[in-house]
Amino acid sequence: SVIESEFPEQLELCNYKLLNQIGDGAFSRVFKAVNVASIDQIPVAIKVIKKKSVFSEYEKHGHGAEDSDRIKPCSRESILNEIAIHKMVSENNPYLVMFIGFQESVSYFYIVSELVTGGEIFDKIIQMSSFSEDLARHVITQVAIAVKHMHYMGVVHRDIKPENLLFDPIPFYGVDGDEFKLGVGGGGIGFVKLTDFGLAKRISHNTAKTPCGTIEYTAPEIFNLEGYSMKVDMWGIGCVLYTLLCGYPPFTEKNPSKLVKKISEGDYEFLAPWWDGVSSGAKNAISHLLEVDPSKRYDIDEFLNDPWLNTYDCLRPSTL
Ligand code: ADP
Ligand code: MG
Repeated sequence: SVIESEFPEQLELCNYKLLNQIGDGAFSRVFKAVNVASIDQIPVAIKVIKKKSVFSEYEKHGHGAEDSDRIKPCSRESILNEIAIHKMVSENNPYLVMFIGFQESVSYFYIVSELVTGGEIFDKIIQMSSFSEDLARHVITQVAIAVKHMHYMGVVHRDIKPENLLFDPIPFYGVDGDEFKLGVGGGGIGFVKLTDFGLAKRISHNTAKTPCGTIEYTAPEIFNLEGYSMKVDMWGIGCVLYTLLCGYPPFTEKNPSKLVKKISEGDYEFLAPWWDGVSSGAKNAISHLLEVDPSKRYDIDEFLNDPWLNTYDCLRPSTL
């Protein structure tokens, strides 16, 4: 039977009822939904990608657009790639939004995932204007654990940004002074989950960590290129960390070609007064992430060993 709804996406969707829209992206709308066949009625998130717009956008950008890092790929293959990677990496990892299922209809692709209710880091930054160093460390540590999991599986995310990082405000009982109180887990702000695998890519040779194929005959730049592509995520982590600590991104420029130039030259600053109160340790970590030369940029293990990231603070025990 057809479920009544104000959303056109509902008509072709089986088993799930769309409740309300909770997000959108360049090619998608995301809804809170519920599986009407389930007993528990636990709400989920469904990302709906419209096929028509997918293909017309694809044509607009021309063939070969899926090879570009900056244009969102939108062929059928790329959606199946997103699903396959999402399913593979999010299994048994609390720092990645869990994949639940997939449906395909005449007009839409539907990706069902766990519902994360705390909103985007993007909105939290706007709300709070900036994060304390302890809170920024708490957030970025969880992002780094998610990225480590992906990189170790040979997958690069390629779209790490505040819009793709969601807060999960898990309620928990904790001791506050001599009281036992209901609070929010994860240092009072919630746990952090990485999502959106639309640009994610499997890397065949994982920097010789798990060599496969005949290495004897492989040119060195192949290893370098593939290894360096993981470093794209480290740059993304650097941009997020920078933004958390001051409330604005490291590279801003209205003119797109000037923006590209600034990024290519690594032309960012720790501007006064926003950065005056920030420790040199935090700035040092950022400078290793926003390093233009990928061979000198931190990899995920180096970042996880960074002294600033490993500074003790009161939020840490509840995080990890
Ligand atoms: P796009 O590829 O179009 O950017 P995303 O997967 O990033 O699509 O989803 C767009 C937005 O929808 C996210 O930025 C987020 O605000 C919201 N969203 C996506 N997945 C979930 C989820 N599982 N739980 C809650 N909100 C979500
Ligand atoms: Mg997104």
